[in-house]
Amino acid sequence: MRDEFLDEIKNRTILFDGAIGTMLMTTGHASTKSPITFNLEQPDLVAEIHRQYYEAGSDVVTANTFGGNPLKLAAEGLEQQLDPLNREGVRLTRTVCPDGKFVAGDMGPCGKLLKPLGDVAPEDMQENFFLQAKVLIDAGVDLIAIETMYSLQEALAAASGVRKAGDILLLVSMTFTKTPNGLFTMMGENIARCASSLEDAGIDIIGANCTLNSRDIIGLTTELRASTTKPILIQPNAGQPVTRKGATYYEQTPSEFAADAKKIKDAGADMIGGCCGTTPEFIKEVAAALSDH
Ligand SMILES: [Zn+2]
Repeated sequence: MRDEFLDEIKNRTILFDGAIGTMLMTTGHASTKSPITFNLEQPDLVAEIHRQYYEAGSDVVTANTFGGNPLKLAAEGLEQQLDPLNREGVRLTRTVCPDGKFVAGDMGPCGKLLKPLGDVAPEDMQENFFLQAKVLIDAGVDLIAIETMYSLQEALAAASGVRKAGDILLLVSMTFTKTPNGLFTMMGENIARCASSLEDAGIDIIGANCTLNSRDIIGLTTELRASTTKPILIQPNAGQPVTRKGATYYEQTPSEFAADAKKIKDAGADMIGGCCGTTPEFIKEVAAALSDH
């Protein structure tokens, strides 16, 4: 599976999906609960969103398991449901995954900081992600995507947790913020440092997602491309969320986003998807834009 996937990347631009969390929270299904609870409470809705992404042209759809690590679940009183929430998330994606397309297990930050800034020891951080990865791999994902990481140390701990759980294609995507001095993670790491550390750790695919919109992430793509020979995945937000009359919108339109996707590809991205605020409509327009690019 790893070679098959890495070969595909050499042949064409691989499309990921867009957001599911923000869709669940903004499409009239508003809930104060974590999006992962929908896997058990509204499974048909989750599967339907995944189906729409495959139909829109996504080659890879990420299971709704972003908040499924034990530390994050414990913060919501859901730690007893580690196995069913993650397992069901993978199953729902697999049920709508067409032949020849892929299911990624999604892993997000744990919401806590490593010592000495926070109170989590490195071995506990690794164990936290190991436990989630074990369920995702056992449930049959094709690859694991560690996403929206704002701390390189946490990303590396998560990656070693996945490696301990099994031999699987592994993608790590960091999130960077624009500052007057350039692009940095929340913990102050720059793109070159993240890329070289992730490469040294043997990560198969390196990515950047969230925070930046499709326009601002073009420059990031150029910088990341210059920093690594690994395949890269770029997943911008659809701009910033704006609340109007109690409903949440994102600033960018699908066509604006798709026009930028061509520039992101030209800047060196091997894979493109969307983060917060993107929907199947965005992916459909990106697919169309890239196919005649
Ligand atoms: Zn995002």
